[in-house]
Amino acid sequence: MERFYLDIAGEARAAADGEWFEAINPATGRPWALVARATREDALAAVEAAASAWAKWRLTPGAERARLLNRLGDLVDANHERLALAETLGNGKTITETRGQMAGLARYFHYYAGFADKLEGAVIPVEDVTAHVYAEWEPVGVCVFILPWNSPLPLCAQKLAPALATGNTVIVKPSEFTSTSIAVLMELVREAGFPPGVVNVVTGPGADIGEALISAPETALIAFTGGEAAGAAVAACAGRNLKRVTLELGGKSPQLVFADADIESAAHGVIQGIFASTGQSCVAGSRLLVHHSLQQALIERIVALVATLKIGDPLDPATRIGPIATAPQLDRVLRYFEIAAADGASLVTGGSRVARGDGEQGYFVAPTIYADVCSDMRIAREEVFGPLLAVITFDDEDEALALANDSHFGLAAGIWSRDGARVHRVARKLQCGIVWANCYRTSSVAMPFGGFKRSGIGREGGSAMIRDYLQQKAVWINTRDGFTASLAS
Ligand code: NAD
Repeated sequence: MERFYLDIAGEARAAADGEWFEAINPATGRPWALVARATREDALAAVEAAASAWAKWRLTPGAERARLLNRLGDLVDANHERLALAETLGNGKTITETRGQMAGLARYFHYYAGFADKLEGAVIPVEDVTAHVYAEWEPVGVCVFILPWNSPLPLCAQKLAPALATGNTVIVKPSEFTSTSIAVLMELVREAGFPPGVVNVVTGPGADIGEALISAPETALIAFTGGEAAGAAVAACAGRNLKRVTLELGGKSPQLVFADADIESAAHGVIQGIFASTGQSCVAGSRLLVHHSLQQALIERIVALVATLKIGDPLDPATRIGPIATAPQLDRVLRYFEIAAADGASLVTGGSRVARGDGEQGYFVAPTIYADVCSDMRIAREEVFGPLLAVITFDDEDEALALANDSHFGLAAGIWSRDGARVHRVARKLQCGIVWANCYRTSSVAMPFGGFKRSGIGREGGSAMIRDYLQQKAVWINTRDGFTASLAS
């Protein structure tokens, strides 16, 4: 079996104790590679490598950092098919989707390269005109990225590009379920010419090495994407160690379909929202809030469209629904089918595991819709992270908004309405970080991305988040001859 090593100080290394774990292809359920299982000692070696590389990297001119990032972006572009294949093999996302994602991946590096040589400080006009005071931006230091399994490469790129542009060094800790595609990106990082130790990768379960990475005195910032439980554990450890932390967590995002919506567009948007990535998307539109007058027509149209979606081999360009990415996640999704039935929701379509049709045993489930859902049912409150849509009806705009905001999550929402005033009114009242109107799941590196409430802390993407990776230093220079302290006068 192919082996994937740790990447520390520019060297491929086995784990200190020689342990490996299996990478499983979710489309077949079979192991296909071995991945080094990092120990605490390996984690600390990565910290040391990143800290020692930072001593030089932080003083590298912004123009040079920009040149390397642009070069990396060009290489990512030239290798996007390889990256797409690696991502699909790792997490089972359809090749059509990963090709789309990888075609946009270079944009992260090119976009943030533009900031690297424009991190201008300011001269501060203080009360004492004889003082020359300025403030400048400096990198924070060694950054640790803890990633989930659903989109390793985009989620890595969206952290890596701003961190490197601002002069930080990095340790990437991919999910233990999808550690392999990051290795292809690392080849490109090396080829682009980044110095050894500027980007390091340690693989293995977060519970084994997370604490070592977060608590090491040399690490400065932890950027985490994942679920609530691990996010809370990471934030608690970061808090104990007084580290900066950003959290991109889950959601239970509503799609609000008003009586004046274009049904055909809404049907497509709802399907895109919940069944793309087989529902394993933080912004999955997993609650459909629909005006009662449209419920039947909309559900019928969605069911008809869903019946045309090919389920199966994610490497087949005709496939629209790939597998669930991991065996534990498959169990979780199947458990929610039982919970939905026990809570009294009505199954409209799906609700079971499906065979791939060619004898392979992948982790496939049918796109699933439940109607007659109440806001207090577990499928309306808890993140399933699978292709499960919960349909709830409403009578008017106030009720739609109350239902939409009745969640401890606040990541995203969709509005379907042809009334422009309503779109603005509802967008303003929704308690979430991203609102799409008459579209869903469209994105750009230039857009701030993140959640309200328990969906996270901080934003990724856009220009403002560059500050997360920087700290300000104020310098006060006395331009008078001599200095007299009031204590001694
Ligand atoms: P997870 O929380 O189980 O794991 C995420 C990462 O945390 C993994 O690398 C894991 O090894 C690590 N980890 C676990 N325990 C740890 C600990 N104690 N210390 C340090 N690291 C630890 O999440 P997952 O199942 O891989 O991913 C699914 C979740 O990710 C969903 O909840 C989804 O909504 C969320 N997600 C959010 C976004 C976003 O941008 N908001 C994007 C993608 C996924």
